[in-house]
Amino acid sequence: MRKLLPGHGASRGSALGRARVRLPHALDVAEQRIRAREVDDELARLHQAVDAARAEMHDLRARLHGALAREVGEFIDLHALLLDDPELLQGLDDLIRKGRYGANYALRLQRDRLAAVFKDMDDAYLKSRMDDLDHVIGRIHAHLHSRPSDAEGLAGEILVSDTVAPSELAQLQAQGVVAVVTATGSTLSHSAILARSLHMPLVVGASQVLAKVNDGDALIVDGDSGEVIVDPSAADLRAFRQRLKDAAREQRELGRLRTKPTRTRDGVDVALHANAESREDVARAHALGAAGIGLYRTEFLFLQRQELPDEEEQFRAYRDVVLGMSGRPVTIRTLDLGADKADRTGLALRGEDNPALGLRGVRLSLANGAVFDTQLRAILRASGYGPVRVLVPMVSVREELVLVRRRLARLKAQLRKAGHEIAAEVPLGAMIEVPSAAICVEHFIDLVDFVSVGTNDLVQYLLAADRNNDALGELYSPLRPSLLRLLDLVLRTGRAHGKQVTVCGEIAGDPAMAPILLALGLAHFSLHPSNMLELRRAIRAYDQAELQAAAGKLLGARDRAGIERWLARVAH
Ligand code: PEP
Ligand code: MG
Repeated sequence: MRKLLPGHGASRGSALGRARVRLPHALDVAEQRIRAREVDDELARLHQAVDAARAEMHDLRARLHGALAREVGEFIDLHALLLDDPELLQGLDDLIRKGRYGANYALRLQRDRLAAVFKDMDDAYLKSRMDDLDHVIGRIHAHLHSRPSDAEGLAGEILVSDTVAPSELAQLQAQGVVAVVTATGSTLSHSAILARSLHMPLVVGASQVLAKVNDGDALIVDGDSGEVIVDPSAADLRAFRQRLKDAAREQRELGRLRTKPTRTRDGVDVALHANAESREDVARAHALGAAGIGLYRTEFLFLQRQELPDEEEQFRAYRDVVLGMSGRPVTIRTLDLGADKADRTGLALRGEDNPALGLRGVRLSLANGAVFDTQLRAILRASGYGPVRVLVPMVSVREELVLVRRRLARLKAQLRKAGHEIAAEVPLGAMIEVPSAAICVEHFIDLVDFVSVGTNDLVQYLLAADRNNDALGELYSPLRPSLLRLLDLVLRTGRAHGKQVTVCGEIAGDPAMAPILLALGLAHFSLHPSNMLELRRAIRAYDQAELQAAAGKLLGARDRAGIERWLARVAH
């Protein structure tokens, strides 16, 4: 029967496909009994899954390297120990043999039993080991469910899941998944950013989707409106086809703006740089007349794999971006792993209490000097092929920039001595995404050549609102007076010191935010290429002087409603 499930559109486009439901956790299985003659097979299935989980951990352990290998290794050892725990394994066997439960349900029962023991413990540390137990149970569960045909079965399917990690999106697409729907998540998460980059329709926060969609259901996913239709009617299918046609027409219309300048009605030129993660993004940025690459997120080179890319591999990737932009500047951001950009290389820490406040961005790079040097060397070598700028993520304090500058100077000298061609100037920039850096930008602007405001994280840290937590509803929003004041401060400081200020968070690509950014005097936007023509169209419709004259009123707004009223007054 037709059902309409609401969610939030996180990556545009529509898709029609079969649902592939991925349940979130081992604990969600319903009671399941087996017959006496099935016991042996069920035990064999469980033992195979345990063996596979053990082999997986062994493999993971062997591939660890780098400064954090020891700490991460300790976690893995602990998990491997749990997997060998006779209490856990014997309990599972008994539940299947004597209790005649299916392996999935036995896992759940055993987990609940052990959880009760952990819960009664006085020791906070031991209590916290429950997470490890859950992790191990989750791994066994995943192996119970991995079908050999998984990889082939995905073509034309829509993944329906609790969450999706940035690291799995590209692989899913390569396997033929046409769209993803998640029950949780936000439109500003890294998964959403990556889905946009891959042109993969994504709906997040569709809270009912796991309860209402079954494997094999036909689905229409609308990444613009956020609607998911289960068992679409004839009218839905017609509307879907019409949407595809409309989208193609809109693209043709926008296509006419490809060669037009990004100039306001009163003749002010605005530079549109591109955010890029892949070769395709770079090619599109070039074709759309981007002023350069304003943000090349290098962590995506690290996410899909288990070993760290070496200097040569990184150098080739960065050099290709530089060559791809034919002389337009390319801003390469150093590694921003950590928090929700968890890698599989073992570099980003696991199990931090507050990963968003933890060892991420430049902190992680500074803590892993060898990895950082490798990356900086690769970036510097790419500068021999065209203009390159280095951008440092998650800067919180001046001291971090002092350390990065020193490193860069040392590596430049070493590379030149070794005969590499390094550009005379490799401008250094800081991401402004931590409130401390925004408030004190004046105190370190002498150390950088430009700054780039990452509003995705700045909003998160400013409002203490997790960018991935949809339970926070409207709280996480750029339409906050605190954000506008900080943006104004950074832009004014940049102007006063003659340093370029770019905004590279998702708001830079949102045509609805353009009047705000123009009013505050932003002249450099960095956005995903898929929004570039729409933003160009929006900017060409505004009068910069008129907007700037209204900036005082904008900054005087005391709440979101006040900002929205301002927008309604000036918007076209
Ligand atoms: C930001 O935080 O706004 C930003 C551009 O960085 P990322 O989204 O990669 O964290
Ligand atoms: Mg950020």
